[in-house]
Amino acid sequence: MSDCLFCKIIAGEIPSHKVYEDDRVLVFLDIGPVSRGHALFVPKVHGSDLGTATKEDACALIGAVYMAAPKLLERLGASGYNLGMNHGADAGQIVFHTHLHFMPRYAGE
Ligand code: 5GP
Ligand code: ZN
Repeated sequence: MSDCLFCKIIAGEIPSHKVYEDDRVLVFLDIGPVSRGHALFVPKVHGSDLGTATKEDACALIGAVYMAAPKLLERLGASGYNLGMNHGADAGQIVFHTHLHFMPRYAGE
């Protein structure tokens, strides 16, 4: 979608720090991290929220977490992570392109 921020990131029109990618999902660092390594898992096909995604893309999001999380935790030295999704404006969604927040956690923090 031409006026979507995350579509522009996926298209490479806006720079981002990419940390993982598969055929359906792009993962890049959040510009306003709540923890070091906070990343966004984003379907490459535009949809405003999870309810508009195909089942394949919805499943691909958690599949990408399954594949990427061990590598990201090892690279970051993190010991765990939180996942989160703000679905809809009343839930705090600001960017209306489906995304899953991956927030690494560190021992002692
Ligand atoms: P939401 O509240 O919609 O779930 O969260 C949107 C997220 O996108 C926020 O955590 C925000 O920091 C992040 N964000 C907003 N603009 C940009 C940007 O231009 N680049 C990146 N990498 N993240 C962004
Ligand atoms: Zn989009």
